[in-house]
Order: sequence, then structure tokens, then C-alpha cells
Amino acid sequence: MLNDPVLVLNQSYEPLNVCGVRRALVLLCRERAQTLETGEGELHAATAVFDVPSVIRLLHMVKRPVFTRRLSRREVFYRDRFTCQYCGRQTRDLTLDHVVPRVHGGVHSWDNVVAACVPCNHRKAGRTPRQAGMRLKREPAPPRLNPFAHLMHRQLPDEWSVYLPWKQPSTPVLVPA
Ligand SMILES: [Zn+2]
Repeated sequence: MLNDPVLVLNQSYEPLNVCGVRRALVLLCRERAQTLETGEGELHAATAVFDVPSVIRLLHMVKRPVFTRRLSRREVFYRDRFTCQYCGRQTRDLTLDHVVPRVHGGVHSWDNVVAACVPCNHRKAGRTPRQAGMRLKREPAPPRLNPFAHLMHRQLPDEWSVYLPWKQPSTPVLVPA
């Protein structure tokens, strides 16, 4: 039971990760988190009986992008499946292209970098795709990262579903009271 999964939400109610009951109890005892949902069963400690937490919420905001990966050449190539985003050729010989070049004010962010093969990168040079007469295969965006992927093979507790946006896509994002 101490290793049962507990869904951890950020202070903003966004899902952050999953920990075990043992870790959740430490957070609760240190008053770093509150219980939002309980699971089945009770834990008997020396002086008290606890409901087993199933969903907890941190009382402080953890500032890190939850569902995005760190921007790096390698991650961009993986996101773009080692495919040049201009000509569609799959190759290992790729470069990182700033769609709007940095000299034109383009930023180094997930939605402004793509994988480009060497010939396409040379052809585009320091121009925007429009200036170079080139078209992107698709608009770049941050890759979605599902920290619960390793849990997807098992039945997730029912009480988690309202907190996991992809379980109920039509559910509006929860706004803390
Ligand atoms: Zn290309």
C-alpha cells in the first residue's frame, strides 16, 4: 500500500507527477501538500489513523514546465522524427534551423526551431521561410510530454480522472478557488 501511486498536483492544480503513498505522506506531514482525494484503505500509525491519499496538491508552486521537454538539438530532432521540416527528407545529417532567424528577432524556443537538412539550411540561409520561398511541413510546437505514460498500462484510479485533462478532454481546466 505504501507504494501505491498518488497523483501530485501543482499548487495550480495542474498534474505534476506521480509518487508513492510513502512520499505523499511525508509531504502531507510536513504540510507541504494537502489531500484532495483519498483512496481505499487506512494507514494506522502510532497515534493516528490516516486515509490513504490518492490525489494531493502541493501548497507551493513548482516552477517548471510540466509537459514540455528541455529544448536541445537532440530533442528537436526527435520531435521532428529526424525529418527535414522543409523538404521532408529523413536523415541523420540535420541542423537546427531558427524559422525566423535570430538576426530578425527570432527566439530560441520550441515554436521557432525545426530540424533542417544541410541543403535546405543552406538554401534558406538567414531568411524567413517566406523570404526563401520555402514552406514548413508543419508548425513547430513544444512536444507533449506525458509523465504518466508509464502508468497508462494500468487502470488509473477513478478519482484521478478530473485532474487529468487528457482523460476528459472536454473538462475545463480547474481553477483554484
Ligand atoms: Zn531538407
